[in-house]
Amino acid sequence: MTTDLTEKPAESTTVGNYFVSNYPPFSFWEQSRVPEISSALNRAPRPGTDLGVYLHIPFCRKRCHFCYFRVYTDKKNDEIQAYLDAALLELSLYAKQPAIAGRKTKFVYFGGGTPSFLSSEQLIALTDGMKYAVPWDGVEEVTFECEPGTLTDRKIDTIKQIGVTRLSLGVENFDDHVLTSNGRAHESKQVYRAYERARNAGYHNINIDLIAGMMNETEDNWKSCVAKTIELAPDSVTIYQMEVPYNTTIYKEMKAEGKVTAPVADWDTKRRWVSYAFDELVKNGYTVKSAYTATKNSSKVSFVYRDKLWAGADLLGLGVSSFGHINGTHYQNEHDFAPYLARLQSGELPLHRAYTPDNDERLIREFILQLKLGRVDTSYFANKFGVDPRERFKAQLETLVKQGHFAINGTIITLTRDALLQVDRLLHGFFLTKHANARYA
Ligand code: SF4
Repeated sequence: MTTDLTEKPAESTTVGNYFVSNYPPFSFWEQSRVPEISSALNRAPRPGTDLGVYLHIPFCRKRCHFCYFRVYTDKKNDEIQAYLDAALLELSLYAKQPAIAGRKTKFVYFGGGTPSFLSSEQLIALTDGMKYAVPWDGVEEVTFECEPGTLTDRKIDTIKQIGVTRLSLGVENFDDHVLTSNGRAHESKQVYRAYERARNAGYHNINIDLIAGMMNETEDNWKSCVAKTIELAPDSVTIYQMEVPYNTTIYKEMKAEGKVTAPVADWDTKRRWVSYAFDELVKNGYTVKSAYTATKNSSKVSFVYRDKLWAGADLLGLGVSSFGHINGTHYQNEHDFAPYLARLQSGELPLHRAYTPDNDERLIREFILQLKLGRVDTSYFANKFGVDPRERFKAQLETLVKQGHFAINGTIITLTRDALLQVDRLLHGFFLTKHANARYA
């Protein structure tokens, strides 16, 4: 334990990743450990483990200034087609592996990049091919990320037709000046059109993504974004706090100008803005379900992908730079377009690096991810890992309880709103010493 849980959060936003999406940190995954994922694929699946598929569509109309994902804005149609063919080949190679063969897929996630960048024809061919490669009849949820400016009537119909059940709209902000100055491709009027089309198409699980603290965001504008979101009444609202990782345009400009502080709101302000949004959403019938998400009709609006992944499901991560987890081993694909395509074209899986967490690391992973829900039941971990988190993390939990961030009642650990808003910072306190202060890249 080296992370100081008493340390005051840094005021200004400096460069680096804030969001914890996995454990151990990616920088510990190694190319020399790829044989571990090959052998995990060669074993029978762990009984009772759900399986999901994630496909990364790495194409966007423009690159946002805060974007740190693997995306391309210059690919021609034949390159996009080659990519989609490669992704289908990748899925069919997985479908033959002992760890995957014959298993039903429970959830599917099309992320990016911009999945809605693809044409209707490409989407139909792609999903037909996926359904041919792996059993699709047990799929409970198909999530599809959309950039509002790409959603024509026809595209919305196609997305419905291919079986998408959860539509996620990357709105981020409703102000055209904020959108443009952060490099977003869409304008606010396209948000309204896209939302109306999606509702008319009969979607009952529409998520709106917002970002608190984009460049040029103001107090009044944030309040107006929250009000406009509530007016649209999406089924769920996801709010991220703006971070500035190393490979963003914003950081490159900071570096060129010799600046340390990013030109975005400080962390206290971003947390206050998310808290304001949660308060307004709750007043309007929403329930806060995690550090980032509030849902309306929370008994009906689910997010299978998140819940399964945070409970240790297997995930086939397809596409360039995608992350996956099979039979106890983490892996990441080749992170450049050409090697990703080349390896598949020669009939090989495009595996780039891997890591097999031990039992303690798997416990830490699930525990910290589930803390993001604001409530965990320690008996789940005792049953699954044979370890009681109240004992395993005694020191950290005592500190957090003393600070008023956590409360423990019997087997239930709950986080206060204040703790939830800075949960990614607090999670580092549960990392093993060797993983503390690792770069999340
Ligand atoms: S739309 Fe998303 S993936 Fe594409 S450039 Fe913007 S932030 Fe990155």
